[in-house]
Amino acid sequence: MALLEHPQVGPAQNHIDGIWRHGPVSERRETFDPATGKILGHYDPGTVDLMDEAIAAARRAFDETAWASAPRLRAEVLLKLAARLSADHERLATLNAYENGKSFIQAKNEVATAISEAKYYAGLARSMTGRMMEPEPGCYSLISREPMGVAGIIVPWNAPVTLLLRSLAAALAAGCTAVVKPAPQTPLINAAVIQHLVAITEIPDGVVNSINDGGPAVGERLVASSDVDVISFTGSSAVGKRIMAAAAPTLKRVSLELGGKTPSIIFDDADLDKAISELARASLVNSGQQCVAASRFLVHRNVLDDFADGMMQRLRSVPVGPGYDTDNLVGAIIDRPNRDRLLGWLDRCADDGDILLRGETLDERYPGGAFLTPSLVLVSSTEALTVQEELFGPIITLEPFADEDEALAKAHATAYGLAASVFTRELDRSLRMARRLRAGTVWLNTHGKLIAEAEMEGHRESGIGRLHGADAIGEFQQTKHIYLPFGQS
Ligand code: NAD
Repeated sequence: MALLEHPQVGPAQNHIDGIWRHGPVSERRETFDPATGKILGHYDPGTVDLMDEAIAAARRAFDETAWASAPRLRAEVLLKLAARLSADHERLATLNAYENGKSFIQAKNEVATAISEAKYYAGLARSMTGRMMEPEPGCYSLISREPMGVAGIIVPWNAPVTLLLRSLAAALAAGCTAVVKPAPQTPLINAAVIQHLVAITEIPDGVVNSINDGGPAVGERLVASSDVDVISFTGSSAVGKRIMAAAAPTLKRVSLELGGKTPSIIFDDADLDKAISELARASLVNSGQQCVAASRFLVHRNVLDDFADGMMQRLRSVPVGPGYDTDNLVGAIIDRPNRDRLLGWLDRCADDGDILLRGETLDERYPGGAFLTPSLVLVSSTEALTVQEELFGPIITLEPFADEDEALAKAHATAYGLAASVFTRELDRSLRMARRLRAGTVWLNTHGKLIAEAEMEGHRESGIGRLHGADAIGEFQQTKHIYLPFGQS
């Protein structure tokens, strides 16, 4: 057992216009270690007034500094950020494992992914181009892509480093200034990353601001403000719908990366050992609290028993415990209320199907901790709420199918369309299924790989807009046509 030491960090403050702002000590809020339930640190909550100041600072920085028209500067800042995060990789991963509860290896991968985002968007910042046409002799049309202005970036707790950078790096590369609103569960790791960014001397004050959570009114102000031009939100579909409605009065652009209920389809010709090992890992990433976690196993009837036996063996043997003990591969649920919500779902699963493997709390071993070991539930009806709802935890359904059409019908039976995976040895079938699946990402004989270079778009109620890849830059840009009659006489 290797227990990593908690990196001591001060209270997470708000950052506005180049200055860290602390509130009254009496108003400080606590952040908790999900593995023990004990206080981990403190943060100064955001307020509507602080949010207004941050938006005003971002507006000024956009209108009055060179940032919006300095792509080389933006690339340099993002490269410096990548270098700073790399130099602090272990400490950031440890802090993430403590505050979010995920295993250290997953926390480390998360920071590595964030570094990759920063480097990728640094490159794109220098290679954005427009178009030029001459539709009639001597008449020139220049089509340029301009940064939208102020970007509001709202981040969930489940991957607080990667998801911050996935939006923020693209927004900064495009030339926007930003106001970040992290989740209330993960203010310490958010502040640690923002510290690296704002410490880069070349970045003008006000380009990046960060306002902690302080209740719904703080995020709502960011969405409603007429000085904010685009909202990049990652979170649940329910909140995404509220954000879209709240953005309507100002007609601001919204990019919504929302929930999922990701099916994995396993055919009877698949390499079962490989499928089981891939999917055990992919279903338990971040204790199943990941938008693209494999949460539904759709398995051909011919191999249902073999798959179920092999999977249960795997799920039982995964070491679960505090993420900062490097022996553990699966960490804690984000907090006790969410762990207890999942226990409620397990009670309900008994009505929906057969619980083949029932998850256990580890309360005796880790009193105060929010642990739940994996569960596997055999369900036949897609109408079961266990199938319909995003449970966001280590409860996975097992659903039999007889042929491709039934597999697709079952895969499409929920409102979500974030991702899917297919396991088969037949190339034709794998590509046919990939084409027919209504999902923004499809993995073949693997599950869960997301890379900075490849666009990610939630279909159906999993979202609107694209992050990752070159298209993500477009989420933070608008188009301008400049018409120029020239050289006609
Ligand atoms: P959430 O929707 O509860 O909260 C997300 C963020 O929105 C938090 O910062 C929260 O404080 C803020 N928020 C809540 N209400 C708001 C409002 N009215 N106005 C403005 N901001 C508001 O989600 P969560 O529990 O933090 O995260 C889990 C969810 O995120 C899951 O549904 C998961 O699938 C989804 N998710 C999606 C992706 C993706 O790429 N599609 C990635 C990660 C997580």
